[in-house]
Amino acid sequence: MSDFQDLVSATVNAFRDRFGVDPIWLVAAPGRVNLIGEHIDYNDGFVMPMAIDRYVVIAGGPFDGAAANLYSVNLEDAAAIPIDADSRPEAMHWTNYVRGVIAISAANGLDVPGMNAVVNSNVPTGGGLSSSAALEVATATLLEAVTGTTMDPVEKALLSQQAEHEFAGVPCGIMDQFSSVLCKQNHVLLLDCRSQTFEQVPFINEDISVLITNSGVKHSLADGEYALRRKQCEDAAAALETGSLRDVTLEDLMGRKDDMDELVFRRGHHVITEIARTVSAAQAMKSGQWERLGQLMYESHESLSKDFEVSCKELDLLVDLAKKTEGVLGSRMTGGGFGGCTVSLVKTAQLDSIMTAIATGYSAATGIQPAMFATKPSEGAHALSMASTVS
Ligand code: ADP
Ligand code: MG
Repeated sequence: MSDFQDLVSATVNAFRDRFGVDPIWLVAAPGRVNLIGEHIDYNDGFVMPMAIDRYVVIAGGPFDGAAANLYSVNLEDAAAIPIDADSRPEAMHWTNYVRGVIAISAANGLDVPGMNAVVNSNVPTGGGLSSSAALEVATATLLEAVTGTTMDPVEKALLSQQAEHEFAGVPCGIMDQFSSVLCKQNHVLLLDCRSQTFEQVPFINEDISVLITNSGVKHSLADGEYALRRKQCEDAAAALETGSLRDVTLEDLMGRKDDMDELVFRRGHHVITEIARTVSAAQAMKSGQWERLGQLMYESHESLSKDFEVSCKELDLLVDLAKKTEGVLGSRMTGGGFGGCTVSLVKTAQLDSIMTAIATGYSAATGIQPAMFATKPSEGAHALSMASTVS
């Protein structure tokens, strides 16, 4: 059985154990990894994520009352939340993501009935692979199943993003929720964060794999620095007399370098070059130029580390080790930074030796054994039929 089928079966079994009946609805929504286009989603630019083959699965059944009785297998925690358009978040609780999607859907006029639901996941949490977006999108997908309605995919992603903003207090861009809703198997999503339009770019090459490596660290300055970067990007745009860094070229920026604060210049330099790299990366993928794509990933990391200063010594070390390892085409930090994961483009035939080389080098220097897994571009959120599950 595949990992995914195992996860689904375990979720169904957990539902039976908890509620004594079979679930009726079964849905899955994936985490994501961004191949290139980092710190760009809030700068009107392009990002290029793909769904990973790690999912949040929810099994649901009816409940006669205005509440959702939730249980997380991962956290071994049960909680009942009200089904109410006026429901507000509870301080730092995992059910806020679910609560947010339900409350916003109800406020939008969806008639949400009571339900029992078991949440289970193999998306690592807090590692930048967006388990929170997967949980929100899985909840939205559950609501579609429960109410027999279909949301417009973009509306569904935006509703999930709104839940993250208002119920988790995280002012994220649109990438995570769009990825979990819209990604397709064997494709990456070239997403224009300005127009919220997208293109599915085929990624079909058995010889190339995507390797995710978790640095195992998360430096606490991430939240404050994120807000600061957003501000510095606004400052860069203001210095260039534009509403958005998307609208200026590298030449425009270079022409104003001497008038600009050095730090603000570098922040703008990252954004402008990263938007261009992401467009080039999509071109490289379309034309099968995998070496070129890998090179762009290395350049992206360099820019994030030097110009944008959101890397850290552990992420830099992982990328340096990747560079020295035979069979790696490219590598970079992925996600907000200051820890979390790197994403690498590698030759499938050398996957085992690459993983060993990077893990050995990293643990020798840091004492941390990095969690690593290879993944492929996977299918976005979908409902599953109970008949497809193995008891
Ligand atoms: P990331 O999205 O990078 O994984 P976040 O901190 O944004 O990290 O979201 C992680 C949070 O999402 C967890 O702390 C938890 O509250 C919630 N979450 C994710 N998966 C589950 C799950 N399977 N069960 C319960 N809560 C979950
Ligand atoms: Mg998150």
